[in-house]
Amino acid sequence: MTDTNDALKNENLQKNFIEEFVEEDLQKGRYTHVHTRFPPEPNGYLHIGHAKSICLNFGLALKYNGKTNLRFDDTNPVTEDTEYVDSIREDVRWLGFNWDNEYYASDYFGQLYEWAEVLIQKGKAYVCELSSEEISTMRGTPQIPATPSPFRERSPEESLDLFRRMKNGEFPDGSKTLRAKIDLASPNMHMRDPILYRIIHVKHHRTGDQWCIYPMYDYAHGESDYIEKITHSICTLEFEVHRPLYEWFLASIELPLPRPRQIEFARLNLSYTVMSKRKLLQLVKENRVNGWDDPRMPTVCGLRRRGFTPESIRMFADRIGVAKRENVIDVGLLEFCIREDLNKKANRVLGVINPLKVVITNYPENQVDELDAINNPEDPEAGSRKLSFGRELYIEREDFMEVPPKGYFRLSPGTEVRLRYAYFVTCTNVVKDAQGEIVEVHCTYDPASKGGNSPDGRKVKGTIHWVSAKHAIEAEIRLYDRLFMSETPEDVEEGQDWKDNINPDSLKVVKGFVEPYLANAKSGDKFQFERLGYFCVDADSTDKKLVFNRTVTLKDSWAKMVTKG
Ligand code: ATP
Ligand code: MG
Repeated sequence: MTDTNDALKNENLQKNFIEEFVEEDLQKGRYTHVHTRFPPEPNGYLHIGHAKSICLNFGLALKYNGKTNLRFDDTNPVTEDTEYVDSIREDVRWLGFNWDNEYYASDYFGQLYEWAEVLIQKGKAYVCELSSEEISTMRGTPQIPATPSPFRERSPEESLDLFRRMKNGEFPDGSKTLRAKIDLASPNMHMRDPILYRIIHVKHHRTGDQWCIYPMYDYAHGESDYIEKITHSICTLEFEVHRPLYEWFLASIELPLPRPRQIEFARLNLSYTVMSKRKLLQLVKENRVNGWDDPRMPTVCGLRRRGFTPESIRMFADRIGVAKRENVIDVGLLEFCIREDLNKKANRVLGVINPLKVVITNYPENQVDELDAINNPEDPEAGSRKLSFGRELYIEREDFMEVPPKGYFRLSPGTEVRLRYAYFVTCTNVVKDAQGEIVEVHCTYDPASKGGNSPDGRKVKGTIHWVSAKHAIEAEIRLYDRLFMSETPEDVEEGQDWKDNINPDSLKVVKGFVEPYLANAKSGDKFQFERLGYFCVDADSTDKKLVFNRTVTLKDSWAKMVTKG
C-alpha cells in the first residue's frame, strides 16, 4: 500500500496515448500550444465519470502549460437549468481546477446560425420538411443507402428563405429541420444528411425566447471548439463515429486552420454503479435516493458528502489512466484511494456504533482518568488529546461474546483484553434482561496497566475500543453499502429493469456514541473511528445532534485482491 505514491509517480512518467498525440501535434507545428475544454451539458450533476474527464482535460493543460475552458454545452433548452450550471461550477472548483475561460455554447447561437447560412449558400445544407419518424424510416441500413428526402434538391435560395422563417418563429415544432447534405450511401449513418437545427419553442435558461431553433450537438460542438481555438477536443469513445462529421462541418464552412482535433478515450464505468445522468436523475426523481448529493450517489457532490476528498478523486483518475477500450473499473479502487488519502490526514478517534454497556466494578464511582491518545500516528504534527475514562463505558457489541469460538481474542467471560489507550480489563459477569438479551457486562480493571501497558509482561491478545458513558456524545451514524447489488447493474435480461438491482439495504442508520473530542466537529470534518472506518460529519448535523457518514470501512478488499492477483 505504501508503494502507491511511487507507483503513481512512475505511472505519470509514462505518456498515455493522448499525450503522445499532443506532443506529436506540437512537434509537427500543428498547434503552438495546448488548449482543452471541459464541455458539460447542464442537464444534471457531475459524476465520477465527468471527474475523470475534468482531470484529463485540466491535467493536459497543466502538463503542457496550456489552458482549459469550462464550456456549458447548452444547446437543448428542454432539459437544461441554471441549478445544474451552478453545481457544475462548484464541483469543478472543488476538484481543484480553475478554468481559464467560462463559455456557453448558447453564446455562439448567432455565429452558429450564420455558419449554417453559409452551408446553405454553398449547397451543403437544406431545409427538410419530413417528420423525424419519416427521416428515420428512410435512413436505410449500413448496407442499404438512405432514401433521399424530397426536399434534398431544393435550391439554396428556397432553403435560405425557409431557414430564416424557421428562425423567425413562423413554423411549429417538428415541422421543419435543417439538414446537412452529405452522403446518403455512407456506411457511417451519421453522415446520411444529419440534422443541424430543429425547431423548439421553449425558453432557454440563458437566451430566453430569443431563439426557437436550436443547433444539434454534432454541429454546435465542433464549431464551438473552433470559436474557442481549442486544440484538442477530448471526448468519449461513442463519438468516434461522429468524428468524420465533426471534421466535415469545419471543412465545409471552410474555416481557416488550425482546426481542433477530436480525440476519443473510453468512458469510465464503475462496478456496482450506474453513471448516466439520465439514470441518476431517475433515482432522484423517484426518491430512490435522497437527492443528487445522497452519499450513495456516484455524483461529485454525493462523493463529497460521503467524505471523499478532491485528492482521492484525482488520485483515482490518475491511477485508472486513459484507455482506448471500454472497461469496468472496480469500485474498490476508488475506496482504496480515499483510504490512502485519509490515512494520512484523518485524526483517529474512538466511537462506538453498536453500543454495549460495560461497568468496571472495581473502579471508584466518581473517579475520572484523563488518558493520552495520539491523534494520528501517520502525522506527528497532528499531536495528541485527552480521553476521559470512567466507571461506565460503551464497547462494540461485536467485541463481546458470551460463548466465544476458538481464536476469539476480544472480550468474553473470564478473559482479559486491553481497552485502547486505557487499561486491561477482565470480564467477570454478564447481566441479561427478561428475554435473555445481554444488557450489561461487568469487568474489573488492573490499575497498574494504565495507558494500556502490561504491568508484568503478561500478554493480552485483544485490543478493543470504547467510550466513557458519562462523557460520550450520542450521534446518528449512517452506514452505507453499495447502491446496487449487481456488479454491472445496467446489464439486465429483457423485461427486467436496472432498478431491480437496487440494494434495499444500502443505508442503515444507527445510534452510536463518540468521544467528546468530536463535540465541535463541523460538517465535512473527517475522522478515522478506530477499527471501524473513516467517517465524516454530515451536513444534517446541528449543534444538538451530530450526524456521521461512514465514508469507507478500514478493510481493504482491493489491495488484498491485487496482492492475491
Ligand atoms: P451522461 O451520459 O452521464 O449523461 P454525458 O456524456 O451526456 O454524460 P456531458 O455533460 O455531455 O455528459 O459530458 C461532459 C463531458 O464529460 C464530455 O466530454 C463527456 O465525454 C465526459 N464524460 C461523461 N461521462 C463520462 C464518463 N463516464 N467517463 C469519462 N468521461 C465522461
Ligand atoms: Mg452528453
